[in-house]
Amino acid sequence: MLPRYYSYSQFENYFQKLLNALDGSRLKDLDIGKSVLKRSIYGLKIGSGKVKVLVWSQMHGNESSTTRAICELLKRSDLDRILENIELYIIPILNPDGAEKWTRVNANNVDLNRDAVLLSQPESILLRKVFDQFQPHYCFNLHGQRSIYGSKNGSIPAQLSFLAPAGDENKTLSVARIKAMHVINSINTDLNHHVNGIIGRYNDDFNINCVGDFMMSSSVPTVLFEAGHSGDDYSRDEVSMLVYKALQIALKSVFTSHLLDVAVVNAYKSIPEMSKAYVDIWIKNYKSSTGLQHLSIQYHEQIKDGELYFIPILIGVNREDVLNGHRVIDMSDDHSFKNDLIVEGNFEIHSESLNIKIFTN
Ligand SMILES: [Zn+2]
Repeated sequence: MLPRYYSYSQFENYFQKLLNALDGSRLKDLDIGKSVLKRSIYGLKIGSGKVKVLVWSQMHGNESSTTRAICELLKRSDLDRILENIELYIIPILNPDGAEKWTRVNANNVDLNRDAVLLSQPESILLRKVFDQFQPHYCFNLHGQRSIYGSKNGSIPAQLSFLAPAGDENKTLSVARIKAMHVINSINTDLNHHVNGIIGRYNDDFNINCVGDFMMSSSVPTVLFEAGHSGDDYSRDEVSMLVYKALQIALKSVFTSHLLDVAVVNAYKSIPEMSKAYVDIWIKNYKSSTGLQHLSIQYHEQIKDGELYFIPILIGVNREDVLNGHRVIDMSDDHSFKNDLIVEGNFEIHSESLNIKIFTN
């Protein structure tokens, strides 16, 4: 599997090998357009079925888990069987410049997922062109989320999340939306017990500038996938495999008929909504000179010499919105601490005895 961070040329080499194994097509033949910095953006069309599904990933450059999941799907031995009924159009990385630099935005500092109407960026224009020409029956909009999401009460992290976006201000339960909800319900039913945490649901406030909302407003069922975080899955290997499974289920679900609309909506709404309740490390009951404190620590991700570094940053003290951590250290019953907690100028936090340090992935 690809690692969590890869340079764009690393991705190109890897993807070409997958293509060789598939049908021998060449990467340069898949070149469908250029990024701001003139990197090639690839579009792979496979299968000859009647139902057309458009899938794109890494429109946010620092969200690689779903791209890795797509690569796993392409390695699948029974891919041919899936593709008997489906024509798949895959854009594995829509934002190559952001992927190279590990930034959410593109090289012009624009969030492509807020550019659906304005179409100010070459990457946004390209996605729209593919959408208009391919005329998909379904769209899968693939993303990754930060390690801050969990259940409302903060007791369980969200390892996967989904949204059937609204297509208008009134959040109308249109045919397209019901179809997207059915896809999500199918994933939720099949994967719920395999997830290390919860499968969460995003808030459906309408924003026409978001690509999913725009496509839904054009009456094309669109599903937002978000690869999340749980435990110490900082490589995101575990969740990448879950997304791969979710994709398989989703591609089958477009052929299964669903129950009455009201049952679909109810099943969808039973998927728990999330809150931003988590930090990477939560130190409780730390004895400072001013009394007991709860310290919230979040990893800042940074690329240096082609490697992804996780730098622990103190982001708050006694924050009321923080309810849990992927790692919780309760100082009232931790006896390993040697009083060696150091906070540096930029709020980098270190402790040998608590094993809080920078690590690479
Ligand atoms: Zn995203």
